[in-house]
Amino acid sequence: MEQIIQQMLVEMDALRQKGEYRSLPVIAHCDKRVEVKDRSMLNLSSNDYLGLASDDNLRQEFSRTLSSQSEDFLFSSSSSRLLTGNFTVYAEVEKFLASLFEAESALVFNSGYHANIGILPAVANAQTLILADKLVHASLIDGIRLSKAKCIRYRHLDYEQLERLLSIHHQNYERIILVTESIFSMDGDIANLRRMVEMKRQYSNVMLYVDEAHAIGVRGKTGLGCAEEQECISHIDFLVGTFGKALASVGAYVVCSNTIRDYLVNRMRSFIFTTALPPINFSWTLFVLRKLKDFEDRRAHLRCLSALLKSNLETMGYPCVSDSHILPMLIGDSRETVLWAEKLQRKGFYALPVRPPTVPEGTSRIRFSLTSALTMDEVNAIFQPNETQR
Ligand code: PMP
Repeated sequence: MEQIIQQMLVEMDALRQKGEYRSLPVIAHCDKRVEVKDRSMLNLSSNDYLGLASDDNLRQEFSRTLSSQSEDFLFSSSSSRLLTGNFTVYAEVEKFLASLFEAESALVFNSGYHANIGILPAVANAQTLILADKLVHASLIDGIRLSKAKCIRYRHLDYEQLERLLSIHHQNYERIILVTESIFSMDGDIANLRRMVEMKRQYSNVMLYVDEAHAIGVRGKTGLGCAEEQECISHIDFLVGTFGKALASVGAYVVCSNTIRDYLVNRMRSFIFTTALPPINFSWTLFVLRKLKDFEDRRAHLRCLSALLKSNLETMGYPCVSDSHILPMLIGDSRETVLWAEKLQRKGFYALPVRPPTVPEGTSRIRFSLTSALTMDEVNAIFQPNETQR
């Protein structure tokens, strides 16, 4: 026992040496600001992309719709949905999602993590090949690991390689599942979903799985994500998104066919063997979803803020691959990145370093994720002209 603890301490020491040790921040929230160690800072690391989670008016409006007598005014479902934990509001959310996406069906989950670790193991068998972008999120990687499928990771956004892999392998497997994020969580660049759809349509045994965690709410004419923007919703077999980011709630969904939904209800372990989220959370999710199409002004403002920060980063000599509100300032060395983050924090900007294993070795970065609650002046003040030193 003593020896095991000693090993753990040695391992954590090594993490400290590399500047990769993590600890939970003590943090207080006040609208778009956070207070950490008595310092109030603008939050530049939030996933509240539309500023809805910090919108007091919205919360007030929602609370006026509540009554302690209503079926949804419950802070626990007390059970799995397959036992006694199924409430009408879940079906309402699913029905509304299906209508928004003009799809047959939708199914909701406790989180994006639950969705991603559960769907792939359910639908992939030993005769399945998963072709996944090299930079997909850890939850998707865990889902792939839990499945019986063989997996090949193609180079990030390299669709020529993906095409080659498909043509080599499509006859050797019963099914092939292409897996990608739409907006990539650490780089903010965007998958070419239309191209992926075209590829999959050349074969009868290929399915497409897209994680829109960072795009739902933010992209597309009515906020349905990059699949709406790229006009290919109906061709995506598993269109996954989370409620915990721009939609200011908690949980996740997949938009899919009736058959896939029924299959997941029967086969998806992270759906079956867990207590469903509290009905009150889904009530709030439904409240936000109903307003989604009306947030275009927030989406447009977020686009302006993102363009401004991208241009300022480039002026400072940090070319940025991002095409979204997630903007990495690529530094490379982990300790150097931590020093940059500390400098920004001293200046009143809560920007966080992202280091391995979250990102590949040698690609540590400051990850800015902007929210429409910020002003142009606030974003412009992050860097002074000619500021290149930490
Ligand atoms: N997918 C992606 C691309 C993510 O970035 C995240 C969370 N950071 C998730 C899924 C997990 O979603 P959730 O937080 O709802 O578990």
